[in-house]
Amino acid sequence: MQTRKIIDILKSDKVGISCELFPPKQGTELQNSLEIVNKIAQVQPSYMSVTYGAGGSTVGYSAALAKQVQDNDIPALAHLTCVKADETKIKEVLAQLKANGIENILALRGDIPAGMEKDAMGSFAHASDLMHFIKEQGDFCIGGAAYPEGHPESGSLAQDIANTRYKVEAGVDFLVTQMFFDNTILYNYMFRLLQAGINVPVVPGIMPATNASQIIRICQLSGTKLPPQFRAMVERFADKPAALKQAGIAYATGQIIDLIANGFNHVHIYTMNRPEIIGGIMANLSEIVKD
Ligand code: FAD
Repeated sequence: MQTRKIIDILKSDKVGISCELFPPKQGTELQNSLEIVNKIAQVQPSYMSVTYGAGGSTVGYSAALAKQVQDNDIPALAHLTCVKADETKIKEVLAQLKANGIENILALRGDIPAGMEKDAMGSFAHASDLMHFIKEQGDFCIGGAAYPEGHPESGSLAQDIANTRYKVEAGVDFLVTQMFFDNTILYNYMFRLLQAGINVPVVPGIMPATNASQIIRICQLSGTKLPPQFRAMVERFADKPAALKQAGIAYATGQIIDLIANGFNHVHIYTMNRPEIIGGIMANLSEIVKD
């Protein structure tokens, strides 16, 4: 088994592609998601992350998927959120992850559900508070979220970067970015992070466009800009799902090659649980990701 700590993977010179999965809704069939894990594992991502429903709504399924990832001999990164969580709940989840051999946690605040007051968050107001707590609970490798275009609640990008520093002070080992469709946004962000003295590894997050209405809705929620060439592609193929998927895989591949050419060894793909998407990208990168 290769190393299970993601920070060690990120420190190596090997080019690697990781990907994100989300668990099924509680009460629905888990088996299909476990099979998706097995299929994605065949293209050998360097690690797989498993999202967590804010408020703990997916806790059992998230843990089951993370275990399935590790059972495929691939390191799992389990997401964990603050929303409505207290120390007892987090301790419980950490104990379950530890029992399954999971050493990597992406510690997040989570999106605050509509109508919930911020001070009803629970024991942890921010991701950095959760990170401090996780550090006390064992030898976990901890990741955090980063926002090249600023988090929607941050007053400015400068404020966002100042707040990202709290994650570094809490001992975050690496950062994974929100999606972006113009690499110059990321390069500009990296410059600003370095200027602010933040130099933990940053993993760029890439979302291949495969569903026009879905991508536009996600971008509106996250404040992600759609550059003209990306918007033109989405609009041109909006009613042709197979064509949009092909174009989306090609666009994402172009972004990834540019990132690797400019010095990033590791890129994370938001796969939307579709093995053929990461499969298509990995096929396009077959020589680039070879040892
Ligand atoms: P925080 O770091 O707490 O930041 C939230 C806001 O508060 C930001 O505006 C920040 O600038 C500000 N802030 C931070 N610290 C302070 C402070 N000390 N004082 C004042 N302001 C502060 N959501 C899920 O529910 N489940 C998931 O699995 C999930 N996975 C994700 C994976 C990635 C890679 C990314 C980028 C996001 C993910 N999200 C997930 C969404 C994420 O939870 C939301 O974007 C959430 O709104 C912010 O999370 P955070 O961890 O960045 O929070």
